[in-house]
Amino acid sequence: MTQVLLEAGSLVLSADAVIPEPGYVLWQDGVILATGRGVYPGPRDGMEVVSRPRAVAIPGLVNTHGHAAMTLLRGIGDDLPLQAWLTERIYPAEAKLTGEAVYWGTLLACWEMIQSGTTCFTDMYFFMHDAARAVEESGLRGVLSWGMVGLDEQSRASGLGNSRAFFERWNGAADGRIRVTLGPHAPYTCPPDYLAQVADLSAALGAPVQIHLSETRREVEECLEQHGTTPIQLAERCGLLQRPVLAAHCVHLTEEDVALMRTRDVRVAHNPQSNLKLASGVAPVVKLLEAGITVGIGTDGAASNNNLDLFEELRLAATLHKGVLQDATAVTATEAFTMATASGARCVFGENGQGTLHPGAPADIVLLNLDSPHFLPTYDLLSNIVYAAGAGDVTDVFVAGRALLRNREPVTLDVERIRHEVRRLEARLRPGS
Ligand SMILES: [Zn+2]
Repeated sequence: MTQVLLEAGSLVLSADAVIPEPGYVLWQDGVILATGRGVYPGPRDGMEVVSRPRAVAIPGLVNTHGHAAMTLLRGIGDDLPLQAWLTERIYPAEAKLTGEAVYWGTLLACWEMIQSGTTCFTDMYFFMHDAARAVEESGLRGVLSWGMVGLDEQSRASGLGNSRAFFERWNGAADGRIRVTLGPHAPYTCPPDYLAQVADLSAALGAPVQIHLSETRREVEECLEQHGTTPIQLAERCGLLQRPVLAAHCVHLTEEDVALMRTRDVRVAHNPQSNLKLASGVAPVVKLLEAGITVGIGTDGAASNNNLDLFEELRLAATLHKGVLQDATAVTATEAFTMATASGARCVFGENGQGTLHPGAPADIVLLNLDSPHFLPTYDLLSNIVYAAGAGDVTDVFVAGRALLRNREPVTLDVERIRHEVRRLEARLRPGS
C-alpha cells in the first residue's frame, strides 16, 4: 500500500509528547512508521502527501462507553427521574426497534463520532449484527458487545447464544477494526449464577467483558440488600473480575471496591455527562487514578447525554472533579487527555500503541484546525485542546490510515441517506405513535 505523509502545523503524539511546531507523521498499511519535527528527511517518491500546515494532529479519541443506536432516542425523554425515564420513554421506544433501525441508528452515531474526532468506540446493544455492519461500512474501530440480560430462562439462553454467535462472526472482522467483547448488562439485570456463566464463556472464547457497575446509589443499596455485598464485590464473587473487564460508571464505590479493582484487571469508563444528566452522581476518578486503575472517558448513549462529542466529556472530566473536590489540581489537562486517548485504548483492550501517534501505533489520527480564535494565544497547546477546543475544530479523521473525514466532509458515509432514514424512523418511534 502507498505510504502517506501527513505534514501538520503541530503534533500531539501523546499527552507527554507535544510538538508545538511543524512536524510529520508517516504511515503505511494502517500503521505509523515515523513521526518527527520539521520536514520529513527521507525521499517522498510515490508517497501521498496530506498537507495541513494550520492544523494540529492528535491521536483519535476513544469513546469507552455507549449504546450507539440510542442516537435514535436522543431527546425522547429528558429531565425525568431515572426509573420514569427508563420505563416510560426508553423501554417503550426500544421495544419498537428492529435490526434495520439499529443499523441506521448506529450509522448516525458513527457519523456523529467521526465528525467529532472519535476513532474507536464501544457499543453494548442488541441487533448487533446490524450494528457491526454499520461499523464496518463507516471505517471506525468498534469494540462491540451483545447486551445480555438474565431475568428469565429465555433471555438467559438467547443472550449467551447471541453473544457466542456474534463473537464467532465478527471478532477481528473489518480488517481487525471490529473486536467483540461480552456485554452482561449489569448485576441488577444479570443474577449471580448468570454472571458466572458469562465469566465461563468469556474464558472459553478469550473475550473480554464490558458491564455497567455501581452506576447509582439505588443499585448499590439493592445489591447490598439482595446479595449482602456491593456490585463490584458481587462481580468478583461470580468470577467476572478474574477476566479482563471494562466497567462503566463506577460512581458509588467503597474503599474495599477500589482496593479490589486495583488487584484485578478492571478498567473504568467514566461518563461524566450521563452521570450528571441522570443524577447518578460523580465517580471518584481521582481515587481511581491514585490507585493506578486505568480510566477512560465515555459518552454513554445519546439518550442520556445527549450527544456523542468526546471533547465535551474531556473538558468535563478535567473540570468536574476540581469543583466537587474543591481542588483546582484535580485531574489535570494531561490526565484528562490521556484518559480520552491512550488510557481509553487500554480500557477497550486496544492494540499496541493505540491512542498515541508513536511509531508502531495504528494510524488513528484526528486533525484540528487551529485558525479559530479560541486557539490563540498558544502558551500551552494541550491546555487549549482540553479546555478550549470543540468538535467543530475537527477537519480530518483517519482510522487505520484511511480517511473517514476530509476537510469536514464524511468520506465513507452517505449522510443524506442517513438523515432521510432517521427522519423516517423518528415518525415510528415518537411517543404515542
Ligand atoms: Zn450504558
